[in-house]
Amino acid sequence: MHERTQDTMTYVRNFGRPDLFITFTCNPQWKEITDELMARQKNHDRHDLIGRMFHLKLKSLTNFINKGKIFGTARCFMYTVEWQKRGLPRAHILRWLQEKIHVHKIDDLISAELPNPESDPMLHGVIKTQMIHGPCGSINPLSPCMKGGKCTKRYPRIFLKDTQTGHDGYPLYRRRKLEDGGYVTTKKVRGSDVEIDNTGQQPFGCPYDFS
Ligand SMILES: [Zn+2]
Repeated sequence: MHERTQDTMTYVRNFGRPDLFITFTCNPQWKEITDELMARQKNHDRHDLIGRMFHLKLKSLTNFINKGKIFGTARCFMYTVEWQKRGLPRAHILRWLQEKIHVHKIDDLISAELPNPESDPMLHGVIKTQMIHGPCGSINPLSPCMKGGKCTKRYPRIFLKDTQTGHDGYPLYRRRKLEDGGYVTTKKVRGSDVEIDNTGQQPFGCPYDFS
């Protein structure tokens, strides 16, 4: 393990900072896992299944990205797998690309927005169920991210018409309002439907608007 860590250090020494940081998290609702559970078993009873499925899917994702050249040709890549507190594995993948991502190309590769529910209902469904933070703030002050009345993950984010770069090397991703071409969705919070927009919170719930 020590040798592997040393190897990864040489990536950074030779190629500088990675271009992409991708996370890949195990979903205990994957059909391949739920199908194999025996009567009265819960997914947390079967670390063997979870570990195997995660490993297979991670391998398949890596192949898909590498062979399909999804982000272009990579100089190198590496990943680590960590176990989250709730017992599920998650991979952190770093990729160094042959061709650096141009500022104008960021929106083609990375999106912090809700996808179009009509042209891509499947992706919209995945983002809606897996990728929406909270909700927290005044609609859900008991959310675990809330400390001293504020969200520790910096939600709600601000609306942005265009992706901005140049602050500290980390871009601020585009988050459009409904009228600028963004989308909204609904999420259940303690039994009632709450509308969520691209700030990650209820429309007009954001105290700032710098767009
Ligand atoms: Zn929060």
